[in-house]
Amino acid sequence: MIQENFNLKKFNTFGVDVSCRYFTEIGTAKDFEELKKNKKYSEAKKLVLGGGSNLLFTKDFDGIVLHNRFEGIGVVSVDEDYAFVKAGAGEVWHEVVLYCIGKNFGGVENLSLIPGYAGAAPIQNIGAYGEELQQVFHSLTAIDLESGEQKNFSLDECRFGYRDSIFKREAKNKFMITDVTLRLKKNPVINTTYGAIEKELEHMKITSPTIRDVSNAVIKIRSSKLPDPKVIGNSGSFFKNPTIPIEKYDRLQQLFPDLVAYPAQDNTMKISAGWMIEKCGWKGKRIGNVGMHTDQALVLVNYGGATGRELLQHAAEVQKSVKENFGIIMEAEVNVV
Ligand SMILES: Cc1cc2nc3c(=O)[nH]c(=O)nc-3n(C[C@H](O)[C@H](O)[C@H](O)COP(=O)(O)OP(=O)(O)OC[C@H]3O[C@@H](n4cnc5c(N)ncnc54)[C@H](O)[C@@H]3O)c2cc1C
Repeated sequence: MIQENFNLKKFNTFGVDVSCRYFTEIGTAKDFEELKKNKKYSEAKKLVLGGGSNLLFTKDFDGIVLHNRFEGIGVVSVDEDYAFVKAGAGEVWHEVVLYCIGKNFGGVENLSLIPGYAGAAPIQNIGAYGEELQQVFHSLTAIDLESGEQKNFSLDECRFGYRDSIFKREAKNKFMITDVTLRLKKNPVINTTYGAIEKELEHMKITSPTIRDVSNAVIKIRSSKLPDPKVIGNSGSFFKNPTIPIEKYDRLQQLFPDLVAYPAQDNTMKISAGWMIEKCGWKGKRIGNVGMHTDQALVLVNYGGATGRELLQHAAEVQKSVKENFGIIMEAEVNVV
């Protein structure tokens, strides 16, 4: 069923009050085949929607929104070392994590409680607490939105990078991911190198943590640290942490001895965008209905009633002042529509 002039306020975690021309739910390949015959579909601009937790709508969407409802989580195969778990793209990501933990399959515990659906996880190669999706990713299936053909994407074909994949570049808005297969360790090796997890485990008085303990620690940290979109509209980190050549970092570090940065690949350094935003005085500063969060400088928030344009305008101001002060251009992590 195609609905017309559909309101998307409850379908984006910024809580922006926008509508789309057409809205429909797709839960099977057959749903898609039916839809493809409809003229409304073929002539319209297309946008696949998951949980709406990484999207900023700046205006009404004059096209068709395909809400992903592909369901099901299960083990598809097992070998000596690994278990392969396939999840429908419409499954809530955290439920997939809990499923894997329930079977004691390791690799996704650090990615606990990241909002959104499984199908969106490959789009920006979700990451948190020292882990990224690509470390457990095996393959995915997607439908070509024009031809309707199914295509498999291997790990290499997804061309994952830091909060990046082919689906944010050449393949942007061209496919609807329908399922994702993960390759998980049957003998989990936990990763608590991220300081906050170790501290939380200590606090929980756990000395030999299991993957469930790590997941619980991550859940605790995230719940105490990150603003809940149900309470205050946001999309998590608005900007990526920029990477710069090490020479440029050395120069900046002379000027700002407390600069927060981490070594990255190929002689580059990843600079904390949150630190730069805070240094520029934006943390907790509210302008009208928008601002950067009081505790998390990297999180753009809608205090209520903000339009997408207001949010984008604010992000642009923050970006400009970081560029003026540090000579670094921050790139948006959130998908702007
Ligand atoms: C409080 C909070 C904390 C967050 N923390 C993190 C974090 O720690 N790490 C992290 O990486 N992200 C984080 N995010 C961002 C977000 O949770 C992830 O990017 C998530 O994967 C988005 O899923 P979604 O289903 O909501 O995607 P949506 O917002 O619905 O879509 C995001 C993009 O993917 C496309 N898309 C979605 N589903 C499909 C599909 N099936 N096929 C093709 N294209 C599709 C959309 O068109 C859009 O461009 C956070 C967000 C919030 C609100």
